[in-house]
Amino acid sequence: MNLSSTKIGPFSIYTIETGRFALDGGAMFGVVPKTLWSKKIPADDKNRIPMAMRCLLIKSDLTKRVYLIDNGAGDKFNEKMSSIYDIHFDEGSLETSLEFHGFKKEDITDIIFTHLHFDHCGGTTRLNDEGEAELVFPNARYWVTRNQWVNANTPNAREKASYFPENIEPIRHSKALKFTSDGQIFEPGLSVVEVNGHSKGQQLPIISHEDKTLVFAGDLIPTHAHVPLPWVMGYDMMPVITLEEKEKLLPEWAEKNAFLYLEHDAHHEVVTLKHDGKRIVHDSSLSLSDI
Ligand SMILES: [Zn+2]
Repeated sequence: MNLSSTKIGPFSIYTIETGRFALDGGAMFGVVPKTLWSKKIPADDKNRIPMAMRCLLIKSDLTKRVYLIDNGAGDKFNEKMSSIYDIHFDEGSLETSLEFHGFKKEDITDIIFTHLHFDHCGGTTRLNDEGEAELVFPNARYWVTRNQWVNANTPNAREKASYFPENIEPIRHSKALKFTSDGQIFEPGLSVVEVNGHSKGQQLPIISHEDKTLVFAGDLIPTHAHVPLPWVMGYDMMPVITLEEKEKLLPEWAEKNAFLYLEHDAHHEVVTLKHDGKRIVHDSSLSLSDI
């Protein structure tokens, strides 16, 4: 296992691999035909594409806080679910990744959830000997937007399958649940932007210092292949809103030469964008350590 890290201003930043899985390629690319998307990310014999659950740990020299952005799907899956989603830990797990960088779960002071779909917050809990889900980060506060919390508690029939009670109920009862909203600043240089197309109230953390910007692209840009405007996931609740959010944010990020940290791309950890004269396109791919 070889996980990257970097430093931006007062922040030490570490890649946390929490496991790999696979999802239906068609569902990942919505209206884009397979003849196009499979050239970018080839599918397996079950039409699935490989996916990372790549989280980020941010240690602040300024406040001494240790933030974890998302924490993967966890390890509460039964055999059937593991096989459907091809869940495996060959690239590392939450535990081995933290250990690799010299951290313990006790060190985490703040977990910032982009949203509460199972592949983003499942690592929050584990099953105890009685088979009940219990929290694994004893000192963490849990940050989620109020909009996402309301959405997770009143999902429509389509989105309901992405919210697992065993991930969410222990947070509800923890007293460490905190709400954020668009533009929330955790400390100078660490803020979030709220986007709603994929799931209402998704928040994307942004680290910035002087001329450097690192965006945790979450499920707005899950892989490098999702940069073109119409390449929007079939999973998105409001794809037209995703389109508008990409139309607004991608040019801003291209202009700033921002680095986009990709949570779900199996092979591209960080990408940059450029304007090719007509549209915003994927420019380069790099590792967090190259920043
Ligand atoms: Zn999601």
